[in-house]
Amino acid sequence: MTQNVPVWIMESRCKACSLCVEVCPSGTLAMRSEPKSALGAIAEAIAPDDCIGCGECELACPDFAIAVADRKTFKFAKLTEASRANAQAIKAGGYYAPKDKR
Ligand code: SF4
Ligand code: SF4
Repeated sequence: MTQNVPVWIMESRCKACSLCVEVCPSGTLAMRSEPKSALGAIAEAIAPDDCIGCGECELACPDFAIAVADRKTFKFAKLTEASRANAQAIKAGGYYAPKDKR
């Protein structure tokens, strides 16, 4: 796994439980509707530039479906008021991003 991204989701393992979205403090993650998935949704990194590399999503995922880049090799963002507000809006929206951000 050497992609130059802060966080990535192994979609075939995702069971759409939303736990990673629940714990993400920066609004990086949200669920998206996915008709092709048996569960109808899948987690997605909608704002990778806001990821602070806290690793909470990786710890929370019961299906080992999400991985975070190594802090030694990836420069993560800092948590901002804006990203915190995005996270709140996503949680308020039932773990989906507000429409204008989809
Ligand atoms: S590492 Fe932290 S900030 Fe980045 S997606 Fe996971 S929970 Fe969100
Ligand atoms: S915690 Fe894991 S299984 Fe649950 S939605 Fe996130 S990536 Fe998918």
